[in-house]
Amino acid sequence: MKIILLGTPGGGKGTQAKLICDCFNIPHISTGDIFRGKITSGTPEGREISAYTSKGQLVPDRITIALVEERLEKEDCQEGFLLDGFPRDKKQAQALDLFMNKKSEQINYVFLIDVPKEIIVDRILGRRVCPKCGESYHIKYNPPKISATCDVCSTALIHRADDQEEIILERLDIYNQTTQPILEFYEKKAILHKIKGDSGIHEIFSQISEIIEKEQKKAPWEMSPPRL
Ligand SMILES: [Zn+2]
Repeated sequence: MKIILLGTPGGGKGTQAKLICDCFNIPHISTGDIFRGKITSGTPEGREISAYTSKGQLVPDRITIALVEERLEKEDCQEGFLLDGFPRDKKQAQALDLFMNKKSEQINYVFLIDVPKEIIVDRILGRRVCPKCGESYHIKYNPPKISATCDVCSTALIHRADDQEEIILERLDIYNQTTQPILEFYEKKAILHKIKGDSGIHEIFSQISEIIEKEQKKAPWEMSPPRL
């Protein structure tokens, strides 16, 4: 089962990714994790990536696409995977399509977790992160046991400088502009599913798993989406 998970930043995409991967036993392929892994390894490639991410810039397509393809070639991805953070734009979606076609495979599901703007702003404004271990909290929905202190490593939590309303709204606009062409791309292939993301974690997950289970029950000749 090959899945792409799309969703606005702060919309709970990471939580859903984890639930889907645990439930259907597929690896979670996140470009963020791949980049962090390369940076930690300290290779020339890692240093090149770090030069972009440390300035808050996007890692260029040629690097991102090559790294995702390298990851998808690994043994654990042969039966399926969930892509998170990729494709980021239409060019990456086309590159992925080409890669899959060469292997005579295809993406089965693209899920978009669609969360209203107000909810995202509320979630991000209340977000507090641990600068040491990266653990993330929310002052209302997921508070730490001791106020403003990380449960895992007891470090003082911070409110990230870019988690401000104006910056969030700007980020959302940019996200929507670059994502729209991806949505159209997958809509044409009839594999895009829009999931209402304004409910609880488990309600959102059951919408996703219902779609997958319904498809799995179909006869094999009903299953493949049209190839375009
Ligand atoms: Zn911590």
